[in-house]
Amino acid sequence: MQTITETIRREAEEMFPQLVAWRRDFHAHPELGFQETRTAGLVAQHLHNLGLEVSTGVGRTGVVALVEGDHMDEDAPVVLLRFDMDALPIVEETGLPFASQNPGVMHACGHDGHTAMGMGVAQLLAKHRAALKGQVKLVFQPAEEGMGGAAAMIDDGVLENPRPAAAFALHLWSRLPLNQVVVQSGPLWAAADKFELVVQGKGGHGATPHDAVDATLVASQIVVALQSIVARNVNPTATAVVTVGSLHSGSAGNIISEQAVLEGTVRSFDPDVRSLLHRRIDEIAAGVCQALGARHQFSVPGGCPATINSQEGAALMQRVANAVVGPEQIAQITPMMVGEDMSEFLQRAPGCFILVGAASPEKGLLSPHHSPTFDFDERMLPTGAALLANAAITWLDDQVA
Ligand SMILES: [Zn+2]
Ligand SMILES: [Zn+2]
Repeated sequence: MQTITETIRREAEEMFPQLVAWRRDFHAHPELGFQETRTAGLVAQHLHNLGLEVSTGVGRTGVVALVEGDHMDEDAPVVLLRFDMDALPIVEETGLPFASQNPGVMHACGHDGHTAMGMGVAQLLAKHRAALKGQVKLVFQPAEEGMGGAAAMIDDGVLENPRPAAAFALHLWSRLPLNQVVVQSGPLWAAADKFELVVQGKGGHGATPHDAVDATLVASQIVVALQSIVARNVNPTATAVVTVGSLHSGSAGNIISEQAVLEGTVRSFDPDVRSLLHRRIDEIAAGVCQALGARHQFSVPGGCPATINSQEGAALMQRVANAVVGPEQIAQITPMMVGEDMSEFLQRAPGCFILVGAASPEKGLLSPHHSPTFDFDERMLPTGAALLANAAITWLDDQVA
């Protein structure tokens, strides 16, 4: 007799053509963060057809459904599975027959695959309600790409009524061998915060600098000085990145610029390092501006904490991955400075975020995520669906055991 894990695994494989069809449809119709109305509509319709209780408009364009096990009592445990739906502002250059039909927008991170797997997981769990010792909250999240979709859903109450005690999710990863699964406890991905610095100088004629305060010069000194934070303020055994990705100042060669705007990103794992980075950027900008006669404004318009897996969550995923892909396909990696707002859920409902390998060297699929030629091997879709469906079933089993 097959175990439920094996049954789910087999049924996920049988679902392969359907998963591919969903993924290609989402891929052809990508939508930017908080604009995922078509995607969310298809997801909601599918969940509704499965007989699930569905909420839409959660965190603007998010969709939530609850799969309830048979014979449940009121305080039955709840586990959350999360799938992100948004695409990126990139002009697609894959030449695929199902390439983007929405010019300038592309599923270049694989969230089309995540959404398709979520539809599959919903179908598997709805069919096997008898095996569920509690409830599974399926969360289809908008705007993961640095726009705060997870926080928007949390503000809208996605973690209440009922309240999940654990959360699981995956990212397909084109830099890992097909169906290799990265499972580890502790930090996997970094806290990622945008920052903005506005430097206010005093405009003037390029030939009379003594009557002006040159915002370009001040901003340039700030860019250089900010690099001392990682070199001289962060403990060398900790990890951090300070990047100034854009600097806009001035309008013509013979005019002294009145204002400069710097935008950047900071990355870290430790919450203390994270706040140190914010504090030092502000202090250094203030000091340089004071020395050179300018003023500044510092803001952090968006960000998310580090993605940290709990020991219990990682141990559970390890067991599930053992059963689904086998121990030889499980790997560990050095944590990466990539950001992911699944971290917002994991801070409130401990669990595990895993990576599932989607590279296909024989098909030439080696482009990095967020590149115009990004694609992934769709043979990972059943694996991902089986991993998350089984994570939910196994976690609920553990709670009542
Ligand atoms: Zn991405
Ligand atoms: Zn992503």
